Amino acid sequence: MEEACETYMYRGNVKLVIDNFIMTKNKSTGSLYYWRCEKRSSKHCRSCARTVLIDGKHYLRHNMTPHNHTTDASRKHIIAIYENLKRNARETNDTPRQIIQMVLNGFPSSVTSSLPKYQALSNIISRERKKHIVVITLIDRGIIYSQTISV
Ligand SMILES: [Zn+2]
Repeated sequence: MEEACETYMYRGNVKLVIDNFIMTKNKSTGSLYYWRCEKRSSKHCRSCARTVLIDGKHYLRHNMTPHNHTTDASRKHIIAIYENLKRNARETNDTPRQIIQMVLNGFPSSVTSSLPKYQALSNIISRERKKHIVVITLIDRGIIYSQTISV
């Protein structure tokens, strides 16, 4: 069985990773997906790829023009770190400091050294929590209970 391409979500868009190059979705028809290099505008890179989606996984069918630039392997990691921070903000009650420590632990210092300062990372966590918090109010026999929960 051939290996599926690595994908991840970034700001609601699916991204495809081929040899550390990041591709963004151009269009899809049925299970066929067409991808363009994310440096298409900034570097005028014309590289594109075609995948077929089988059981929710992308398999490379055609990898066209080579890239006209080098990869930035750490960028992929930084995006993964942001996604991890946000996921932990939603799914745990840990403090921002705990989350940041835990998430950054899994990455080499060559990657984490290019991240923004602690406060900026902490803000990402707070913002994500505010987005997902609802207040539930329940009145039972005249007593008002209210609780905030993460959704
Ligand atoms: Zn490219």
